[in-house]
Amino acid sequence: MTDATTLVIFGVSGDLTSRLLLPALGQLLTLETSRRVRLIGADREDWSDADLQTLVSTAFASADAAGAVSRVDITYRKTDITRADDLSALLSDCSGQVALYFAVPPAVTTAAFQALTPEMLPEGAVLVMEKPFGVDEASARSLNRVLARLVPESQVFRVDHFLGRSTTLNLLGARFANRLLEPLWSAESIESVGIVYDEKLGLEGRAGYYDNAGAMVDMIQSHLLQVLAVLAMEEPATLGEVDFRAATTAVLRATTVWGDDPATASRRARYTAGTVAGVEKPSYVDEPGVDPSRNTETLAEATFEVRNARWAGVPFTLRSGKALGDPAREIVVRFRPVRHVPTGLTGSADGAVLRFSLGPDRISLELNLNGADDPFELERATLSADLGQGTLRAYAEVLSGVLDGDPTLAVRGDAAEQSWRIIEPILAAWRRDEVPLDEYVAGSAGPASWAAVR
Ligand code: NDP
Repeated sequence: MTDATTLVIFGVSGDLTSRLLLPALGQLLTLETSRRVRLIGADREDWSDADLQTLVSTAFASADAAGAVSRVDITYRKTDITRADDLSALLSDCSGQVALYFAVPPAVTTAAFQALTPEMLPEGAVLVMEKPFGVDEASARSLNRVLARLVPESQVFRVDHFLGRSTTLNLLGARFANRLLEPLWSAESIESVGIVYDEKLGLEGRAGYYDNAGAMVDMIQSHLLQVLAVLAMEEPATLGEVDFRAATTAVLRATTVWGDDPATASRRARYTAGTVAGVEKPSYVDEPGVDPSRNTETLAEATFEVRNARWAGVPFTLRSGKALGDPAREIVVRFRPVRHVPTGLTGSADGAVLRFSLGPDRISLELNLNGADDPFELERATLSADLGQGTLRAYAEVLSGVLDGDPTLAVRGDAAEQSWRIIEPILAAWRRDEVPLDEYVAGSAGPASWAAVR
């Protein structure tokens, strides 16, 4: 691709832009030397082009991409994106392939969509927005209706950068390109699946957002359900956006809370004061900006069933939490044991376990083999491979799709609605206090009473 794409970033002075988007753009341009970008940054600040140039240079340098700055044509436009005349003036200067990235708070994005009209948008313009997409199924549906009046669905990018993570994409190769796994990928051979993304990080000053979201909405509703969808989907004929997104969305449509009982299928907890990696953390409720009466959880776990012929009866347990010591980040696929082990072979013959670890990316397979000392006694052996970080950071992968106008790794509108539909019974049960809000010491592995996710 040699023609410059115009990337308009609304909210260019914000945290997401400087910490994630611009470094990812630098990395992408460093790897793909024929790509050129015209960057228009828009915000309410009284900045000049030179101010934006400085921001871009610093962000690119942080990604070892300082050399790519010269391939970006940089302009700053002071804009209030909730005002139709501001938007219209900015967009009338955009031509060619245009991507509009809304790196602004969700309420501002919604207000901007209401101010936009189809006539203002350049032909083929793509609209890119961040999570959270709505605050429940009904609001996601109404936001989708607003978007549908502006552009076709294939020009809407609901970003979920977990879809750009190399481990998520590794699932595709592992599942569909190995005769060893492909025929076994169903309830016939798989006993359970765990998808865990725990973090050492605490609130990091983001109480304004997080205290209204919590771990269930922040991580499970968006990221981990998308990973579940890739893991459990039927084989798409192609990895084009139509086939891929139809397959992942079909999984979400079939997914429901285990046993239709959110009170027994979910758990929640929040951290108390402790030490994480040598750093003291206050109790979550004492963090600046937190309202303890919201009962926001910092650790959430829920079990789901994908009710279709391939997966019925297999528990998928998703978990994510903050301020945890030695945090697990992995997809764990547990296979059923064999039906019979020959008499004379002793020891445990648990099913094989396939793990995809996230960051550093690694895959491992635990098998039962004959023991070294006593060949008739089974021993567990682990085969493993380090996969590295993947060439592109997850955000660069997402940005590459945005600049190419390819929405394969973006969440489709109905999938966004489904992921709210899936977790809403859990949130309702939590509001009714049917599930206790447990506590765990920051830096521990979670509440002592919780068994490890299987
Ligand atoms: P910030 O608050 O840091 O930045 C938002 C930017 O938008 C600010 O520069 C703000 O300017 C600007 N803005 C607000 N209103 C307007 C307006 N009417 N017209 C023009 N600009 C406006 O937010 P983040 O960067 O953290 O987040 C942006 C989006 O990304 C949110 O939807 C968030 O949920 C999402 N997200 C963020 C992540 C992160 O790590 N930061 C991770 C994943 C998603 P001003 O200062 O003048 O208000």
